[in-house]
Amino acid sequence: MKYVLVSGGVISGIGKGIIASSTGLLLKTMGLKVTSIKIDPYLNVDAGTMAPTEHGECFVLDDGGEVDLDLGNYERYLNITLTRESSITTGKIYQHVIERERRGDYLGKTVQVVPHITNGIQDWIERVARQPVDDTNEEPDACIIELGGTVGDIESAPFIEAMRQLRRRAGRDNFIQIHVSLVPIVEGEQKTKPTQQAIREVQSRGLSPDLIACRCLEPLIEATTNKIAMFCQVEPTQVIGVHNVDSTYHVPMLLEKQGLIVQLREMFRLDHLTLAPALV
Ligand code: ADP
Repeated sequence: MKYVLVSGGVISGIGKGIIASSTGLLLKTMGLKVTSIKIDPYLNVDAGTMAPTEHGECFVLDDGGEVDLDLGNYERYLNITLTRESSITTGKIYQHVIERERRGDYLGKTVQVVPHITNGIQDWIERVARQPVDDTNEEPDACIIELGGTVGDIESAPFIEAMRQLRRRAGRDNFIQIHVSLVPIVEGEQKTKPTQQAIREVQSRGLSPDLIACRCLEPLIEATTNKIAMFCQVEPTQVIGVHNVDSTYHVPMLLEKQGLIVQLREMFRLDHLTLAPALV
């Protein structure tokens, strides 16, 4: 199983969901079967009880699961059918672990965030990633995991630790992290400091993004890309600009033009797969 973790820094609402869905679509064009999991680090068990005015409408899955709108993007971009288990919240994980504790599954043990919650998250992901999501009924090859919120929030800490451990569990060449950051433009200048700090924050938690996706009003200029690469310990090719576009359905092409398919192919060692035909 190949995993792509899409995490975010600086602020929320900068397009993690769109970048995650678009990356899934590119993997699909390479011939992989792709599924996805959305993590929302809030305590609600699902999005059904949250006010639309605060959170946006919830998306209703075929099995009746009331989930974040991003799951709708995944279904549309990837032409798949997800289940309520494709949505993980802090509430859902705690409920699951506490039910097991009451049943006596951990008898004698002190039940803790690490390892019980973090193992619970990893086991959930490994199980759900293997569930078929289309009519072929075949197990997917790749799973996009989108971590809601921003790295550094108290709420997301157990998920970050679980992702750090999942990277080890998945093994070499099977786990890629894309960290989505913001490049604001101040008085005409593209500012890289928020991205530098966001990467430092994620690195301090033991994760090291393989690709940095930078949301910016305009295309990144070369100097910005080089500066981010230099300060964030990556190659300029690992810095991807995601500027504002008229339709978010253009984002997959934007990523493809910057070599994302080639990068995914190399990082996942999928050399045997033919490169995707041009996305039209
Ligand atoms: P997040 O997952 O980080 O909360 P979303 O993916 O839901 O963010 O995107 C937030 C909003 O920004 C959505 O309304 C989405 O349509 C819009 N958006 C995302 N990427 C772009 C882009 N490249 N250009 C224009 N709008 C975008």
